[in-house]
This record gives sequence, C-alpha cells and structure tokens, in this order.
Amino acid sequence: MVDTEPTSQQFYRDKYRVRFVPDIEARYHRVSARKQKRYTKLLLTILIILYVLFGACDYYVLGDDVLAVWAVRYLLGLPALLVCYAVLKTRWVDHYYQWFLVAAISLIVLTTYLMVCMVSGAAYHLYTSSILAMVMGGLSLTRIGFVGASITGVIYIVSSFLVQYYLNGIDPVAAFYILLGMWAVLFCVVSAFSYERASRNEFLQKVLIQRKNHQLKKANERLKTLVDEDGLTGISNRRHFDHVLDDEWRRAKRRRYPLALLMVDIDFFKAYNDSVGHVKGDECLREVAQCLSSHARRPGDLVARYGGEEFSVILPALDLKEAEVVAQYLCDQVRALGIDHPDSDIAGVVTVSVGVSAQTPNQHNERGDLIKLADDALYLAKKNGRNRVEVETGENTPDE
Ligand code: GH3
Ligand code: MG
Ligand code: MG
Repeated sequence: MVDTEPTSQQFYRDKYRVRFVPDIEARYHRVSARKQKRYTKLLLTILIILYVLFGACDYYVLGDDVLAVWAVRYLLGLPALLVCYAVLKTRWVDHYYQWFLVAAISLIVLTTYLMVCMVSGAAYHLYTSSILAMVMGGLSLTRIGFVGASITGVIYIVSSFLVQYYLNGIDPVAAFYILLGMWAVLFCVVSAFSYERASRNEFLQKVLIQRKNHQLKKANERLKTLVDEDGLTGISNRRHFDHVLDDEWRRAKRRRYPLALLMVDIDFFKAYNDSVGHVKGDECLREVAQCLSSHARRPGDLVARYGGEEFSVILPALDLKEAEVVAQYLCDQVRALGIDHPDSDIAGVVTVSVGVSAQTPNQHNERGDLIKLADDALYLAKKNGRNRVEVETGENTPDE
C-alpha cells in the first residue's frame, strides 16, 4: 500500500505559534540545539574574555573602591560563566538548551546588578546601561526562542525594578531606566518570536522533504520489484529472466565457466485446467513455482516463469551433468508435492518435464543457442513420455 503524502498539517499542534506534535517538537529542539551550540560556545568565549578584561574598566571607573566589584566579578560572575561553558559542552544541555540560555543571561544580569548595588554616581549609570546592552545582546545574538526571551525579559525587568527600588526608590531616573528596559525587552521578544517562527517553518519544510523522499524511495523499491515479478506466482517474470540470463551469459563468458539452463513444463496442464478449473490451475502454478524456487537456491540461481505453465531455471557455473542432477531433483520434488491430477496419462499427480542445456559462452555461440537447446531437450522429454529429464548437448555447436 502506498502511504498518503505527508502534509504540514499533520505536524502542527498549534499552527499560529508553529508548535509541533510532541515527537517532532522534541526533534526540533534537539536539532536546533545541536546546530547552535558551536555558535553559542563562540559567543560565550568572547563574553568571558570581555568579562575578564572589563575588570580594568572597573578600576578605571572606581579606583581604589574596586575591590568589592572585583570580588563579584571574579569570584561569582566568572566562575558562573565558566560553569556555563562546561555545561554547554555536555550532551545533556541539548534537552534543556532554552533553559540554559535563560539561566546564562539571567546570571550575567543578576551578578552585574549586584555590582550596581555597590557603586554610586556616574558608575551607577554606567553599570545600569551596560546591563541593558548585555540583555539586548543576549536576547538577540543567542537566537533564544520566544518563551526563553520572555522569561529572561521578565527576570531582567523584575530585578531592575527591585534594585532601583532598593537603591533610590522609584525616582524619575530609575523609572526611565525601567521603561527603557521594558521597551528593549519588548523589541527583543518580538524579534525572537519572528526568528523562531521562521526557523520552525524552515525545520518543518525539511521534515516534509525528508518524509517525501523516504516515501519516494520506498515506492521506487516496490516498483522495481513489481516490474521484475510475475503477478500470479510471485517469482521472477520473463522480463527479469531475459535480463539475468543476459548478465549471466556475459559473466560466464568473461570468467570462462559454463552456464546451464532448465526449461520446465507442467505435463498435461490443459487437461488439469479442464478437469479441476482455472482457479485450481492457478494454485497449482503457484505451488510448482514455489517448489522450484525453494529447491534451486544457490547464490546466482534464478527460477522464473517463462510463460503459461512453463518455467525456466538459470544455473550459473554448472556443466551439463551437474545441471541434469539438479533437473532430476526438481522433477522429483514437483512430483513429491502430490498435487492430484485426475486427467494425467502418466501419473495421478502433477508432474513436469525438464529440458537441460549447458554451454560455456565463447565467440561461436550466443545465449539464444542455450535457450534453443533447452527447448529442444524439453521437446524430447515430452516426446519420450513426460515426467522426465532430457539433456541436449549441442554437439554441433563448438565449445571453446
Ligand atoms: P504438455 O504435457 O504437452 O505440456 O500439455 P499441456 O496441456 O500442458 O500443454 P498445452 O500447451 O496444450 O496447454 C497449456 C495450458 O496451460 C493451456 C492453458 O490454459 C494453461 N495455462 C497457461 N497459463 C495459465 C495460467 O496462468 N493459469 C492457468 N490456470 N492455466 C494456464
Ligand atoms: Mg505443459
Ligand atoms: Mg507448455
């Protein structure tokens, strides 16, 4: 059965926000986390270097009062950033990547706010504005998702409100900073939303293309087998037989070994059909086909339905004597199936006649000769009483 074509609809849980069904959603998070981890590592490395170097600015701005700020920067902020870097190297972080970003950005914001609490005057304004710059950078550069950006934004606004309230009460300058922060967060959250939508849509298109390709591959494989398969018996058809015989003939010619061919014909099959009906006749064809293919199983052997109630067996690298043994064995196996044949002149069960030929391909013969000889041998088997094996040596055709 051919699968129905995949559509984007079946992957959505919430189309407007482009949320997927659970397994696709989990895959999206995994794939995008893996894709962005290297980039985030680079950002974090740059951030750590800047964070360390900013210690010099601390000294420049604060002079001898710098120690408390340095304590926060180097004993709290820096170790926290290094932990983030180590966590980013684990596979575990793939599952919680968005939460990781929320935690990392919030950590920087909170430790810097701790510094804000320790300074005053111009330094207060410098540190407060640098937090704003860090939040904007963090929310836009990390490509954090909409939910992560919103949560980080709320943490930033709430902490800025609390710090301002604790330091000055909410005076006009503090209110200005809070309002500015809210606008900045709003812009960042809106851009995170549209970035995430675009990246989710792109991911969905990739999933659809992958699924369609997979379906096409499966359909192609099925078509390939159908083209080579006989509809009634399920074994190879005449088309596949011609193709394989051609290949085997050329291979045998290259490697200089013989190629044997059996032509197998069910005896008195017309009479069988007439007495038990065509449906049973079809069943009998299937049974004989299965019997032949289950007993000619060396690698390279091929059993095909040649046409009507006639089968052919390709036996690479067997000479006439060896092929005759196989033919006799197959003939015996079909008879041993014991399929009742009320109108057979020679036995109470279905039997076959087999014609055998074998040739080593060379410049004097061609594959048509092999078929002709096997046909002649089959004719002989019929003439000599059926339910038997005959060989045709092709003595007139020179071997190498
Ligand atoms: P012989 O022993 O000389 O081979 O005689 P025969 O009756 O087997 O040979 P003949 O060529 O006279 O008849 C072949 C019969 O095979 C005739 C046809 O109805 C039957 N046949 C061919 N293809 C099919 C098939 O797909 N299904 C069924 N049920 N019968 C088929
Ligand atoms: Mg027949
Ligand atoms: Mg026939």
